[in-house]
Amino acid sequence: MSAIQKQDSAVYKILDSEIKRQSEGIELIPSENYVSPAILEAMGSIFTNKYSEGYPGKRYYGGQQFVDQIENLAIERAKKLFNAEHANVQPYSGSPANCAVYFALLEYKDTVMGLKLDQGGHITHGLPISFSGKFYNFVPYYVDPKTHLLDYEAIRKIALECKPKLIVAGYTAYPRDIDWTAFKKIADEVNAITMADISHIAGLIAGKQLKNPFDAGFDVVTTTTHKTLRGPRSAIIMCRSKYAKPIDKAVFPGLQGGPHDHITAAKAVCFGEALRPEFQIYAAQIIKNAKALADALAKFGWKLITGGTDNHLLLADLTVFGLRGMEAEEALDKAGITLNKNTVPYDPRGPFDPSGIRFGTPAVTTRGMKEPEMKQIAKWMDEVVKHYSDNSCLERVKIEVKELCEKFPVPGIE
Ligand SMILES: *Cc1c(COP(=O)(O)O)cnc(C)c1O
Repeated sequence: MSAIQKQDSAVYKILDSEIKRQSEGIELIPSENYVSPAILEAMGSIFTNKYSEGYPGKRYYGGQQFVDQIENLAIERAKKLFNAEHANVQPYSGSPANCAVYFALLEYKDTVMGLKLDQGGHITHGLPISFSGKFYNFVPYYVDPKTHLLDYEAIRKIALECKPKLIVAGYTAYPRDIDWTAFKKIADEVNAITMADISHIAGLIAGKQLKNPFDAGFDVVTTTTHKTLRGPRSAIIMCRSKYAKPIDKAVFPGLQGGPHDHITAAKAVCFGEALRPEFQIYAAQIIKNAKALADALAKFGWKLITGGTDNHLLLADLTVFGLRGMEAEEALDKAGITLNKNTVPYDPRGPFDPSGIRFGTPAVTTRGMKEPEMKQIAKWMDEVVKHYSDNSCLERVKIEVKELCEKFPVPGIE
């Protein structure tokens, strides 16, 4: 950062503080990760200087020899990684990617099914004040009130009743595996298009630890690239060939102008990393770590939604300990552990002040932490939650957290 340091001390100071925060704290937000130095380089590369509206071989600007090469490479790698017939690597992020799919395949006010938002759906899955909720008729489905698992028979009944044109599966806070085949069967019965939003679990699918929705016959798969997939902040859309044209048209010129070519370069590097055998070991360790964290917390009496996890994330209902998600988030933050407050299924409280917290293991696994460290993290979390108003406890944990973190450097931070 020598150029920033010389030129802009205000920005440099802020960046330096963030470096310190990321190195000295334990990151448990399940949608966050640490990218490799190679991905950081690609994001900071001179492709940021380029404009390239259009697609490889058909652009609206000159000088595309190398942009076309990088975009084609990203496309080929994405298709190989997810076994996709078609990939569009231009969406700016997960929300615009989902908007593009709706814009491509639906008419205004068409009916779509998505998981109820406070049970793990995303804002682009029908939040009333979002684009998705205003332009389309989203009909929610639910997890079972007792087990908090997806109830496919109940989902089928809703589908038979509302006859959706599209069914969206894939979530932000569902700790269990998703039965893509069950969704595909329901969709076929009502002649609906199937869309999987695998933003959270893309790395676990790419790393061959969870099932790929395309293997179950899904039509469209969207994903962010910055969560378990460990790439730049961005997204891609993949689909069967028959949907390629409308989806490409919806991304450009339907919703976006020029793609971010430096981010396309970083996506190519990310997919290259995920295609390596080491990435499967990484993905497997994310799940082993999440299970170890779940086991350790359960022993401390924690109430985990669905009793545990099949993937990278956990959801805990804290009302058993007499505190709210927000209080736990704040206390853990003071102790150097970052995660987020979250609603639990059928939460009597609202999304700004919910009953639970959501956390996961993609970032700590990238640092090289394994099961013994998960046990230690669980112990700290338990101490903080049970003594959340005791500042001396939070300060002590913060020092211990920093000591552990020094042994597990963050990639890209010297
Ligand atoms: C993160 C996420 C998104 C949106 O990603 P942004 O890049 O933040 O717009 C969409 N869907 C799901 C399921 C997600 O987890």
